[in-house]
This record gives sequence, C-alpha cells and structure tokens, in this order.
Amino acid sequence: KRILVTGGTGFIGRVLCPNLLEAGYEVDVLSRQKPEDVRAICGRVTPIRHLTGLGERPGYDAVVNLAGEGIAEKRWTEPRKQVLRDSRIALTRELVSALLSHEKLPHVMVSGSAVGYYGAQGEAIVTEKSAPNDEFSHRLCADWEKAASPLTDQGVRVCYSRTGVVAGSGGGFLERMVLPFKLGLGGRIGNGSQYMPWVHRQDVVNAILWMLSEESASGPYNVVSPNPVTNRTFTRTLADVLGRPALFPVPATVLKLALGEMSRLLLTGQRATPERLEQEGFRFTWPELKPALKEALGK
Ligand code: NDP
Repeated sequence: KRILVTGGTGFIGRVLCPNLLEAGYEVDVLSRQKPEDVRAICGRVTPIRHLTGLGERPGYDAVVNLAGEGIAEKRWTEPRKQVLRDSRIALTRELVSALLSHEKLPHVMVSGSAVGYYGAQGEAIVTEKSAPNDEFSHRLCADWEKAASPLTDQGVRVCYSRTGVVAGSGGGFLERMVLPFKLGLGGRIGNGSQYMPWVHRQDVVNAILWMLSEESASGPYNVVSPNPVTNRTFTRTLADVLGRPALFPVPATVLKLALGEMSRLLLTGQRATPERLEQEGFRFTWPELKPALKEALGK
C-alpha cells in the first residue's frame, strides 16, 4: 500500500513515518526540505517537493495530512495568523484538489486538527460532541477540517485527528517546559487550574495507524490521553519526574504581555477526553501522565 504524508518531517511525522514503513506501507513525504534531509529524518521514504508532482505518482491508498507552521513559535500578529492558516488550510485545499484530479482516489485520509478546535472550555469535559468556543484556534481548526471535507463527498473515508498537547522526546512543548525546571525555575502557569489535554506521541501515532486501518472510523477524534490534568498537576508531576522543585509560578499578566493572544495556548485549555477512540476500541499505551513523562524524558 502506498501512502502520502504531509508534515512527515515534523515532531509527530518523524515517528509516524518509520511506523508506517514498519507496517508495510510505501511512504511518500511531501516536504520543502532536501530529499536527503527528508530521508535522514523519516527513513526510507520517497520525498516529494511539490503537489504538482503528484500527477506522476501511481496514486495513493491513504493520506496523512499534518503539515503546518508552528503554532507556538511566534506571536500571533495578523500576518502570522495568515501564515498559520495558509500553511494548513490553503495547503490542504491544494492537496485535496491534487488528489481529486488523480485517476486513483485514496481510500482514507487522516487530516490534522487540534483540541484548539473547541477553544477555551474551562472545567467542562470535552468530547467530540462539545460545542466549540469561537476564537482564533477554533476557526483555524474548523477551516482546516473543512478543507479536507470535499474528499468525503467523493466517498473517501476522512478522519480528523483533534490532537492534544503532544509529549515526546526531542522537541514539542515538553522540551520548552523542561529547561526552566532544570534551572530550578519551573512552576505552574497562571493559577494552574487550566486543563492540559496531554497525549504521548506514540499514542498519537498509534491512533493515526488505527484510523487508517479501522474501516468504520470517520469524522473527528479527540487524540488525547484518557486522563487530562490541570496545569498544576502537570507541573507537579513534571517536577517530580525531573527531581526538581516547582516553586516559580509564571503570572498570567506576564505571559499576556510577553505572548499577546498566543498566551491563550498556555492560560486556557480543554478537559478533553478521547470519547470516540475509547468507545470504538482504541487502546492507549500511555494513559497515565507520570509513566508517559518518564518515557518521553528518558527517566
Ligand atoms: P511540526 O511543527 O513539528 O511539523 C510540521 C511540519 O509541517 C514540518 O515538518 C514542515 O515540513 C511542515 N510545514 C511547516 N510549515 C510549512 C509551510 N509553511 N508549508 C508547508 N509545510 C510546512 O508539527 P507536529 O509534528 O508537532 O504536528 C503536526 C501537526 O499537528 C501540526 O499541524 C500541528 O499544528 C498539529 N498539532 C500538533 C500538536 C503538538 O503538540 N505537537 C498538538 C496539536 C496539533 P517540511 O519542513 O518538511 O516541509
């Protein structure tokens, strides 16, 4: 079986690609990077530079669409918001039209999204049925999902991975959080009551593999651990795993000044649960925070 992956060189993709190769897929990776760099990151995949090149490929059985500029990398100015949107929504639209113009349609596509779909949700338990709060992250994710939906009209099975905060080694939010702790300067963020719908990277990869192979799966799935915790609990657990104190809370006002609207990523959250994955039989390898953090941090 042949699969196309966008964002294959990313934090999730670089673990997904070797898992797909292992599962017997032939993997094409759409990437702006040099072919040798893509292979160094992803393994024995075929790098593809442009979507226009898809016409010459034999067609795909499956697609995983994860590409997008880093959400937490720069302040959300209006031009930056446009970059965040274009690198997901415009790219997905182009991908979908390239796939639709190929004589062979894929059987299934897993397309990216995030728990940011729901916006800030306070303490409410968030399932796939929850009503979203309208804010930038909601519109970004909703439009990103919608961009993939024309495939559904053509009979392609489409799943949306509403991914939580991914914990894994070598990058992601954990790497950013660990440094202050190592310096003894770690602490909760704001008052610490906001929920963090964390998920271990291997469970994200396993959930994508599950969506690809589970013929009855379609629509949105919360890809989060079954045990969302507050930032306070997360902070304490991280401090415990690192054997460091968590004495220095970061005040909300400071974050708002430093990060502007992007501070919502840290100061608000979702108590999201993987209702559909659990009901439909997916099993988590890392459901509990402490073992998941230990594994991700090599402790
Ligand atoms: P990364 O930021 O690590 O990687 C995303 C990939 O997207 C990059 O490797 C890059 O590939 C590609 N990309 C970046 N900018 C552009 C652009 N302007 N045009 C085309 N391609 C681009 O993401 P993750 O692996 O962490 O996550 C994958 C997706 O899941 C992302 O869209 C992210 O928003 C979403 N997500 C991630 C979460 C997390 O905690 N990690 C949480 C929730 C959602 P290349 O350089 O090869 O072209």
